[in-house]
Amino acid sequence: MALRLSSDCQKVTKRLPRPSKSGGMLESLIYMARNAVGRVNEMSEDIDWDSLTFSLTPTDTMYLTETSADDPWMPGSLRPYGPIPMSPAAGVINYGQGLFEGMKAFRTSKGRVVFFRPEENARRMQRGADRLKMPPVPESVFIDAVEQCVQANLKWLPPTGKGAMYVRPLLMGSGPILGVAPAPSYTFLVYVTPVGPYFKGGVNAIDLLISEEHHRAAPGGSGGVKAIGNYAPGMMPSKKAKAAGYAEVIYLDAETHSYVEEVGAANFFCVKDGVLYTPELTGTILPGITRNSVIELARHHGIKVVETKVEATFAMGADEAFCCGTAAVISPIGSITKGDVKATYGDGTPGPVTQKLYTQLVGIQNEEQEDIFGWLHEVPV
Ligand SMILES: *Cc1c(COP(=O)(O)O)cnc(C)c1O
Repeated sequence: MALRLSSDCQKVTKRLPRPSKSGGMLESLIYMARNAVGRVNEMSEDIDWDSLTFSLTPTDTMYLTETSADDPWMPGSLRPYGPIPMSPAAGVINYGQGLFEGMKAFRTSKGRVVFFRPEENARRMQRGADRLKMPPVPESVFIDAVEQCVQANLKWLPPTGKGAMYVRPLLMGSGPILGVAPAPSYTFLVYVTPVGPYFKGGVNAIDLLISEEHHRAAPGGSGGVKAIGNYAPGMMPSKKAKAAGYAEVIYLDAETHSYVEEVGAANFFCVKDGVLYTPELTGTILPGITRNSVIELARHHGIKVVETKVEATFAMGADEAFCCGTAAVISPIGSITKGDVKATYGDGTPGPVTQKLYTQLVGIQNEEQEDIFGWLHEVPV
């Protein structure tokens, strides 16, 4: 009994509010109230878990911390989910000085709550912060923030197999600045939302259109980091493709317009004669954590992986193709259209290599397969 008590006490102590520049009494009270122990099985009864899509369901609590450009980051605090006040002259809304991350927490078949490789998201955000001249958030602050956010919103975490808690960290220049220069202060914010599948229709193969007019990223630009400004220019091409019946666009490289780079905001793979090909990371391709995991999984299972320049014509002649990302997981591609030419893959169901990688990846995430790479990070609940 004494032992149990003390371990519960440790839990509570760990969750006590940390000192925060922006934190107040009310926040602290909310924080503590929301962090009563022993709620791993608590789930919201207001959600129809089977009809979840990849869309925003507002949750209860978000995390926020601020710092000035030259100060170290301090741990922040939880507060009710909702609008944040910001100067009209904030760097992020004037000049796009902002980054986002996207990661998922899962309820596993063993009853645990886990993140999938969250350290990789923390590191990627640090690389992005360097590129956009923002103070990088230390990995420990990042991990603490995403853990607290999931803990505080546990009832929104879908049951095993029904989806995941999508976690959205944001780093932005929130202080006012008129000239084009780094903002004087920064906000690191995390919110979460329960999500189902990204592409409607689940693991049905998707039809894609190669964009002939637009590119996502140029050499030397910011395509290799999750800069918020990378995404608005893709909305018009994507909308147009969707209106024409495609699920997304494929972007080719901006220099030669011949190599596949990405599928919207997901990485591209194709299989030819049993070998897995994916565009090499040239700086214009976002280094997806799912991409990296697929490569490692494939190699572990004896599939040869080649990271190279992948010509659109080669991709269109492949046996299987899929795209992948935290949101998209692994989505099989049914067809790729370039101008008048349409290449199709299989019969609309995932090919054998795609299926195998999907099963392995999802199996690890929900603990139906052994976590041989140590990719899961348990969230104490
Ligand atoms: C986030 C993202 C991906 C996928 O990265 P994951 O870490 O696997 O989620 C791929 N491409 C772009 C452009 C992205 O923004």
